[in-house]
Amino acid sequence: MTQTTQKAPNVPITQFKRTKTIATIGPSTMSYESVLQLIKAGANGLRLNFSHGNHEEKAEQIKWVRSASQEYGKPVAIIQDLQGPKIRLGDFEGIINVSTGQALMFRYKSDFQTTGCIPIQYDLSKKVKRGERLYLYDGKVRATVTSVSQDGTVHARAENDGILIKRKGMNLPDTDFAGDVITQKDKKDIAFGSKHDIDWVAMSFVQTEDDIRTLRRMLKNLGSDAKIMAKIETKAAIDNLDEIIQAADGVMVARGDLAVETAPESVPILQRKIIGLGLRYGKPTVVATQMLASMTEMPEPTRAEVSDVATAVIVGADCVMLSDETANGQYPIEAVKVMKRIIMYTQSNLPVKAVFPYEREGLTSRQEAICTTIMSLAESVGAKAIVAETKSGITALQIAARRPESPVIAVTSVPRVAQQLAISYGTKSFVRPDSKYAATKLTDWMLKTKILHKGDIIVSASGMYPGVVGTTDTIKVRVLE
Ligand code: PGA
Ligand code: MN
Repeated sequence: MTQTTQKAPNVPITQFKRTKTIATIGPSTMSYESVLQLIKAGANGLRLNFSHGNHEEKAEQIKWVRSASQEYGKPVAIIQDLQGPKIRLGDFEGIINVSTGQALMFRYKSDFQTTGCIPIQYDLSKKVKRGERLYLYDGKVRATVTSVSQDGTVHARAENDGILIKRKGMNLPDTDFAGDVITQKDKKDIAFGSKHDIDWVAMSFVQTEDDIRTLRRMLKNLGSDAKIMAKIETKAAIDNLDEIIQAADGVMVARGDLAVETAPESVPILQRKIIGLGLRYGKPTVVATQMLASMTEMPEPTRAEVSDVATAVIVGADCVMLSDETANGQYPIEAVKVMKRIIMYTQSNLPVKAVFPYEREGLTSRQEAICTTIMSLAESVGAKAIVAETKSGITALQIAARRPESPVIAVTSVPRVAQQLAISYGTKSFVRPDSKYAATKLTDWMLKTKILHKGDIIVSASGMYPGVVGTTDTIKVRVLE
């Protein structure tokens, strides 16, 4: 969207929700009207799941999001979620019963009826090794590889009783994909995204920081300015967590696959660690999967789900995400509204308290000084808002990473940056032309539109060279009149 100014819905600043919401578009929300309703209900980011649907559909959805965002008047992030090497069983008739100790055979695209080999949609034989674990059907059946034969058959032994159903997912927690996490399909999807106004690319099944670097090179070569979100959902990613988060621009706790690859009981601790690292490096964090799962079928969430969302807010996540709830559920708009209610109540009754408060890193000493000073200044003068003029978004992200209780108003001349910041904690972004008075003009306008009020105090960070990255050098306090 190349608009030069961004209007805003008429909401007073005290009613901004600080933790953001991402909603997934799917069969339940596949219309312009639904997308507009999702945005009005509180969605700050829309996730397009590239595991489903075709490019034509996605191009249409992107247009819906951009025009709905403009109609409502707030920037919204579009997140392209790549499928990655999600390995699934192939097609077969009925269910396959598995018993403990049973020898199983798997082969790429085999016919179960005639060969007795369970078909898989990915040729595992070049990747897996004897002794590695195979988790089938979301971990419901566990097996260990016993051998891999020349013809590409993977032999394994089942460790429990269970059933297998066609097309169910497979996880390989011990297998090294050696940098092969971008599939042929992903490459086509990345090329499509680079031409279609994508703000964030979410990379599935990341194993190492090199995977992030590879994607970054690809995006650069395609001329894309999308940011990269690392989905943490493999055991390898947990081993390389710090490096991955440093290499990426944002991080998602992809709890569905992560629980299968590690153990469900480890996920709550990992979630807090990942959020702590996001705060350390100023990278937005997203808590994903099953947050309001029961709302796919019921109009009200369970007590446990309410608690899950509230907990993510308290421990300092930037975003809470809805998947099935908005993609396939019966109450997609209600789910977004419920999230908003939980966020608003929680943020106004308890400050954020990170469980893993790591030392902050990744800033020059001047940036560090400006961000630290503006935070303490905002607190001591009781500022209603912190305004940051920002070209690249870094200043706003770094202030937001300190989890201020007053909103961060980001002013940027780059629509892409405003959209990317839509999923950053407490950040409300506005697109305005670069100027020495961008922050002052914006706050005057916010006063006129009653987002701010006479007598409100604001603090702002700006620079002598508007529009030049890394030149923020001025902090101001202003009483609106
Ligand atoms: P997915 O990722 O929905 O693309 O699988 C999220 C998760 O694994 O939790
Ligand atoms: Mn996943």
